[in-house]
Amino acid sequence: MSTTARHLRIAVIGAGASGIMALIKLREAGYDDVVAFEKAGDLGGTWRDNRYPGLTCDVPSLAYRYSFAPNPNWSRVCAPGPEILAYVRGVAERHGVEGQIRYDSEVVRAEFSGGRWEIETVQGAQGAFDVVITATGVLHHPVYPDIPGLADFAGDCFHTSRWDQSVSLAGKRVGVIGTGSTATQITAAVVDEVAHYSLFQRTPQWIMPAPNPEYTEDQTAEFQARPELLETEYKRLNDQQGVGFADAVVGESPEMYAKIDAFCRQNLATGVRDPELRRKLTPDYKVGCKRLIISENFYEAIQKPNAELVTETIQRIEAGGVRTADGRLHELDVLVLATGFNTHQFFRPMTVTGRGGVALADAWAERNEGYMCVVTPDFPNWFMIGGPNSPIGNFSWLVTAENQLGYAMKLMDRLRSDNAREIAPKPEAARAFNEALIAKLPDTVWASGCKSWYIDGQGRVASWPWTYETFLKDMAEPVLEDFEIA
Ligand code: NAP
Repeated sequence: MSTTARHLRIAVIGAGASGIMALIKLREAGYDDVVAFEKAGDLGGTWRDNRYPGLTCDVPSLAYRYSFAPNPNWSRVCAPGPEILAYVRGVAERHGVEGQIRYDSEVVRAEFSGGRWEIETVQGAQGAFDVVITATGVLHHPVYPDIPGLADFAGDCFHTSRWDQSVSLAGKRVGVIGTGSTATQITAAVVDEVAHYSLFQRTPQWIMPAPNPEYTEDQTAEFQARPELLETEYKRLNDQQGVGFADAVVGESPEMYAKIDAFCRQNLATGVRDPELRRKLTPDYKVGCKRLIISENFYEAIQKPNAELVTETIQRIEAGGVRTADGRLHELDVLVLATGFNTHQFFRPMTVTGRGGVALADAWAERNEGYMCVVTPDFPNWFMIGGPNSPIGNFSWLVTAENQLGYAMKLMDRLRSDNAREIAPKPEAARAFNEALIAKLPDTVWASGCKSWYIDGQGRVASWPWTYETFLKDMAEPVLEDFEIA
């Protein structure tokens, strides 16, 4: 075994929150030949794309942060989206990694050839890289509803992740299709400003109330003066979300699940006065089956006199508005599509070809499957932040991403220090991982019978079904016997 450090040329795909983190951590570890290819003209990923009114991260900001960049200056417990984008941008600037990003460079092809990854972007061939790290995000392929007549609408119409900021909603008749986290936040943010607000609900949602107070000047000053407080708060919040919520939804903490369940039911019972509206807002599936919505003001907003919850099925969209199955035309000036994202598309339409000409499209034809969410057989030196079955419960994505990158970097160290050329999980290890995963899925609340973006095209839960502790333990040290290292 050689101890000579080998120079590695590394491509990061994506310059969102995870890609920025990867650039910083790689530099810190001494990798000095790293480039990030970003499809858009700016960094920030989901926080760049989403600009809708009310955009907030429902994970407390003291937990939604890079471990190496604690921030004492959040304005609120759960900071608004633009503040998070400014945080990500500020961290990138402070660490001087912006120069490593190539913008308007969507990767269209990646092919493993001669032991390296040939990368091609829309700009053309980019040469060969020893390692690829994908940081392409989870919620970024917008779903447009397949409703007849969508193109006939005469007013302004856009998906929430493509918000048209030139359009004022003031005094207008506004309709929103969807009742996920996004629609819920928009409802509370715009209802007071519009003339009439119609929320088109196909499925009601459980809602957990959580206050989102501003930090006082004194609190901020204390966070600034005593950085250890940020760490204490981080640990407390992470315990609450990680050990608390995440364990409850995977069936490992029935007491905590019962508390969350009771809290949501009580919120509905006490938050909605009219029994008929309450009935319409009552889900027929278990709390947490769909991603739980956190909102302290949605129920109040939907009960405003100018707001209407429309539960009749949408039949078609016409020039003047939305026609429902009861024959009524809901006249609208603006139609917002809060219809979510395709979370199972991963890197597609990128063409990825691994060892021996294996196409990822074929390897994943039946379903997206990897090993430990980070690697996949036949695709050596290809590391995924947010790969198949990543832990995507309600807890901080930045924490998940940092742990996954840490795992990938331990494997990359082998490539660097042991002079290994290729590292990929053994097919039998990946098979065993996926068998164990399938066996555990029925314990999770996501598998209890509802439709959500956690369920893949084949009807199987696509999230991490174990506890947060298991995730941390698995990410801490790769089991090298599970890998082919050549
Ligand atoms: P979503 O949760 O997938 O919700 C999409 C909504 O659109 C659902 O209510 C769905 O109804 C409805 N819908 C889709 N197609 C439809 C159609 N053809 N006709 C009628 N209704 C249709 O999407 P999202 O609200 O954008 O949220 C996605 C995820 O983004 C969240 O779960 C969360 O992870 C993340 N997010 C986070 C925050 C945050 O604060 N951290 C904020 C926003 C979003 P059905 O339920 O019937 O399918």
